[in-house]
Amino acid sequence: MKCFRCKRADMVTEVGMVDYTFSGLPYEVILVNAPVQRCPSCGEQVDAVPRPDELHRVLGLHIVEQAGRLVGAEVRFLRKLLNWSAKDLANVFGVDAKTVSRWENDKDPMGPVSERLLRLLVRDLEPVDGGTASWVMQSFPALSQAQGRHGPIRLEACDGRWSVAA
Ligand SMILES: [Zn+2]
Repeated sequence: MKCFRCKRADMVTEVGMVDYTFSGLPYEVILVNAPVQRCPSCGEQVDAVPRPDELHRVLGLHIVEQAGRLVGAEVRFLRKLLNWSAKDLANVFGVDAKTVSRWENDKDPMGPVSERLLRLLVRDLEPVDGGTASWVMQSFPALSQAQGRHGPIRLEACDGRWSVAA
């Protein structure tokens, strides 16, 4: 495939770092070892993130493991991961749509019970070792109402799977 910018050379596939802005999260999400198409002539880079659905699930599972309170953009990201509208979330959680909007726009924090339910729903998208009940026993007691950790998240493509990089 010729470079669409300079049209002088064929794009070559390399692996590199991608700053993944699509997530809409209020911190950096960095993809490590991600395949990118690069033009050897002008340096134009095209990120072709493979398996985006899996990537979003891995990112979502990582977010629900964090002990600090979820911020609004995380609530929105996790809701979209469930493929739910704000109205769907409001109906399931028994709150009105304005409440969901306040959660997602950081006007009000989600209550601890709602937050745990959301974490549980996201965790259940992909059954993981030990089952959900044992995960809940392990991780929920450690959750806190303290502000979350907002450092960058690094995800690595390795052996055909996305995982959280160390
Ligand atoms: Zn080029």
